[in-house]
Amino acid sequence: MKIFNTLTQKKENIDLSKQTLKIYVCGPTVYSELHIGNMRPLILADVLTRYFRHHKIEVKTVVNITDIDDKIILSAKQQNVDEKYISETNIKNYRENQQKLNLLTPTCEPQVTNEIDTILNYIDKLFDLNAAYKSGGNVYFNVKKFSKVYGKLSNQNLEKMNETLDNDKNKKYFADFVLWKNTDGGIKWDSKYGKGRPGWHTQCVAFIEKFLQGFVDIHIGGVDLKFPHHENEIIQKYAYDQKPLANIWMHNGSLNIFGVKMSKSLGNILKIKDFLNNNDPNTLRYIFYKSSYEAPINLNSSLLTEAKTKVAAWDSLFQKVSKNFQIQGIRLQEKNEIDSEIEQAIQDDFNFPNILSEVDKKITEIHTLYKNFEKNVTKLNDCFSKTIYCLKTILGFVFEDVQITTEEKKLYEEWCTKKSEKKYQEADKIRKILIEKSIL
Ligand SMILES: [Zn+2]
Repeated sequence: MKIFNTLTQKKENIDLSKQTLKIYVCGPTVYSELHIGNMRPLILADVLTRYFRHHKIEVKTVVNITDIDDKIILSAKQQNVDEKYISETNIKNYRENQQKLNLLTPTCEPQVTNEIDTILNYIDKLFDLNAAYKSGGNVYFNVKKFSKVYGKLSNQNLEKMNETLDNDKNKKYFADFVLWKNTDGGIKWDSKYGKGRPGWHTQCVAFIEKFLQGFVDIHIGGVDLKFPHHENEIIQKYAYDQKPLANIWMHNGSLNIFGVKMSKSLGNILKIKDFLNNNDPNTLRYIFYKSSYEAPINLNSSLLTEAKTKVAAWDSLFQKVSKNFQIQGIRLQEKNEIDSEIEQAIQDDFNFPNILSEVDKKITEIHTLYKNFEKNVTKLNDCFSKTIYCLKTILGFVFEDVQITTEEKKLYEEWCTKKSEKKYQEADKIRKILIEKSIL
């Protein structure tokens, strides 16, 4: 299958006969409750993992959690609590939403505060290699020394970059970034550079080194992380052992609300918790799959309505078909096959819009076959089972298995009897109830 690599700007091959695949996702910073945009790279990684597992590949997925940074410290100060309280509250909330969204549990979710030694070991090696220097109590990475490898991912040239990235006077070069920070406020750890805490950019490379042996098949993150975060990951790894960090770099697009980027200052942050309080988790997956993963999404009322209507219609159709199989006493097949057209769309760089349009065709087919249930029972069983497998197991939607009750079965039989007795008025009354119960 092919996946677009942002670094080479080409679709590249992923060998599905491999035994293992390693995926790394730049995960959330837990300074406040997560918003729906935070879930996009996680859902992308989730679908990839699901699909590779379908091909019997052992997938190792690591997602980091940044549980200490300036925003967490500020938030703790404002609320007069310690940083741990802020991060733990938001992690708890994140876990609940992971579950609601039916996200597979990653192999490992390292948290910065539990891995200070791992990060310090990485910084030590960079320091010993003269890739880092101490200044003003902080430790900085020396970007200039390795400038030839910098900027390829974000397609930028250091010489043409704006030199006023920030006003940190301790840096020797404008693109240098902090590895170890000696700060006034917040929690600090001991190190040979003095008390401090890690900068943001080292954790991912240090975790890939520790948990994924220094190299991943697929590295995932939002497009806004390309620069400087991902450039900083690449350059650190290069300084560390002159090797690449990832085979393929995948970047998901941003998420806008009514055409505007979500931001705290505009007050248009849509928290995942609030979204899920008002909407079925399936609607969020549908919204994400409606666009190519790399494209921006503009969430507006028409997209939300479409998502809600679609997933509700699927659910009602699946209930109807499943209950009818039960009435007829026919077992539904348990497929672990994907329809070939859908699989083609998956293998073409996870082309979500095409996947959804192929799914739509299958839904139409199920409707058509269902109209003549008895004649099409075998075909319907096959098409239904494959479609359900794809939606649930590969795309991660949740549809509850329904069991027909004895009363519902009796009601159905009554309807059949009334029809055969040509008591159409009575049959019609029962028919209405059966429709309400998603049996017809
Ligand atoms: Zn990262």
